[in-house]
This record gives sequence, structure tokens and C-alpha cells, in this order.
Amino acid sequence: MIERKPNKTSFAKRRMKNAVKFINQISLLALGLYDTENSRIGKLAGRLPRKRKPGEGRTDLKRSKGLKSKFIDLNKFDLEPFMENKMVTRSFQVFGRIVSGVLKSRKDYRKELTSPSRPPKPAPPEFWKEIYTRAESLGIGLIGFAPVDENLIFTSDFVGKMDRLYAHGIVLGMEMDFTAIDSAPGPEAGLEAMRIYAELGVATNRLADFIRSRGYRAIACHPLGGPILYPAMAVRAGLGEMGRSGLLITKKYGPRQRLSMVATDASPLPETAAPKFGIAEFCDKCRKCFSACPAGAVLKEPVGKGNGIISRIDQDKCIRYFYEAMGCSICLKVCPFHQKGYEQVIKTLKN
Ligand code: SF4
Ligand code: SF4
Repeated sequence: MIERKPNKTSFAKRRMKNAVKFINQISLLALGLYDTENSRIGKLAGRLPRKRKPGEGRTDLKRSKGLKSKFIDLNKFDLEPFMENKMVTRSFQVFGRIVSGVLKSRKDYRKELTSPSRPPKPAPPEFWKEIYTRAESLGIGLIGFAPVDENLIFTSDFVGKMDRLYAHGIVLGMEMDFTAIDSAPGPEAGLEAMRIYAELGVATNRLADFIRSRGYRAIACHPLGGPILYPAMAVRAGLGEMGRSGLLITKKYGPRQRLSMVATDASPLPETAAPKFGIAEFCDKCRKCFSACPAGAVLKEPVGKGNGIISRIDQDKCIRYFYEAMGCSICLKVCPFHQKGYEQVIKTLKN
């Protein structure tokens, strides 16, 4: 009989995998990000008595009119590709930055809710110039302004735990690395998306701190999750137009950005031009994302939901594939606005 020697490498690998899984679960627990219907730990946590939220009766805050958001269970991601590609250290650094960014925005939010109501504070043009300069110095590449619309606020922001916002929105965007996104689907592209969530989260918190230091009120809305439908707010802020893929397309980065927002009482907001982008016109001819989506999640035609919101993708199908592939971004990768850039694509369209 042949005696099998224990395979040390696979044992070490298993231990490592369990350790990574454990740390992942602890981080998700710290954030309160567990599925309260389908996971054992989530069900237990869901039964804990909830504290009454501060901020009741505040007249200067806007609340959701019932828009539901999708819960993305980060616990369902397969962590093995990260380990196989020796990306564990980088992943932990990125997740650490996301966790600390989310916790800071939640802490600041609670402080905002416990302060008394007051009318909006007038903001001169110089203040907005300072905002542009500060945002740029924080690595923010896109900035636009739009009033906060209650119809776009979610009933439940799973990540930020926010459900009230000040009336004026500063919409922010940060570019993702071209090469990493071009490797989609896979861990590199997945990690790049997470890296930008982390970096934009930190920058959003810092911009909100800056606004508070000038005597205004501010709520930093973290890019991961988020209390409001960011792409719709970005369109209203004149940053871009929605593509057939359901991604915001901008002149500067095409579909290659992540979004966040700072809600503030500073007003009036700078005027926003409503430029014509011509993206819908091009999408009608292109449809590359529709053919390339491995989950069949890009809808043939956009569907109006009756509340002014238009669906362009089947979110359930998209999220299912997202879990399997550790992020996806194929619709982003194949988009000519990513591959060639906005100017080039529009030139082709005109010709
Ligand atoms: S992210 Fe992937 S699954 Fe989702 S719509 Fe885009 S291509 Fe399809
Ligand atoms: S891939 Fe084509 S159809 Fe899809 S969003 Fe980009 S331009 Fe529009």
C-alpha cells in the first residue's frame, strides 16, 4: 500500500485561503455588509435591535421617495484568483482603505445628523473656484453640480448607511487605469475598480472636510454603494450621457470612471451647462456591449420604470456574472468610447 505524504503546498494554500476568507468576513462584518436574508451570520445580525436614527424632523435634509438599490454581497466573490495572481497584499491594502473610508464617511454623517437644522448658507463664486482647485489636487478628474433629487435617493444605502442628504450635490468622478480595465474580466480589472473606490472614497471625504472647514455642511457619499443613483446625478450635473451599457460616458474618460458625491448646504450651485454629447446616437449604431455581455444582461432597448428612471441592463443577470468573474467590466472594455476616446468616436460618427 502506498502511503500518501500530506501535500504541504496545498495545505498551506488552504490555510491561506481560509485566513483570507476570515479577514474578508471580518471586514464585511465591520461594515455591516452581510446578506441579512441568505447568510447565517447576516440573519443573526439582522435580528439585533436597531438604534433609532438621529436626524428625525430635520427640514434641511432630503429623503428617499422609495427607490430600491441592489445588495451586492461582497462575500460571494471568489478570492482564489487574487491569491493565484499574488495580489493578496495589494488587495488587503485596497480593502483596508475602502473600510477606513466608509467608516469615516459614516462617522461624519452621524455628526451631521445630530446638528440642528438651518437654512442653506450662501456660497460666493470664489468658494466654488476653491472647490474646483481642491478637487483637482485630490486627484478628482470630473466635477459637476446638480440639486439632489429625492427620486434618485435609495431607501437603503447598504454601504454608507445613509438615507438623508443635503439639498445640493457636487458630483465627482475619478479615472480607472486603461491597461487594468483592458484586461477585463479578471482580478486585475476587478482590483482596479476597487482601488478607485478606495481612492475616490478618500478624496470625497477630504473634499467634504474642506467644505466643513469653510463653515458649510457636507455629507460625503462614498463611491462604493452610495445613497443616490450616481450616474443619473452625473448626467444632471452635465458630466456626460448614459451609454447603452448603463454606464456613464464622459468626454474625458469615456465609460472608464467611478463616481461619488458630496451633498452640501452651500448654495447657489455654479450653473451647469447642458452639453450635447451625441452618445445615444452612436450607441444606436454600435451595440458592441449588447453582443459582448457574457451574461446577456444588456437590454436590447432601454426600459422606462415609470419613476423617470430608465433601466439599460438586467441587474440580476449582471450581478450573478459579476460574482463569478470577480468583477466584469467587459461592457466597459469593448466600448469604443474607452478604446478610442470620445473625440475620435464622435469624429467617426460625423464622417
Ligand atoms: S458588467 Fe459584465 S455582466 Fe454586467 S452588463 Fe457589463 S458585460 Fe454584462
Ligand atoms: S459599447 Fe457601443 S453601444 Fe455600448 S455603450 Fe459603448 S458605444 Fe454605446
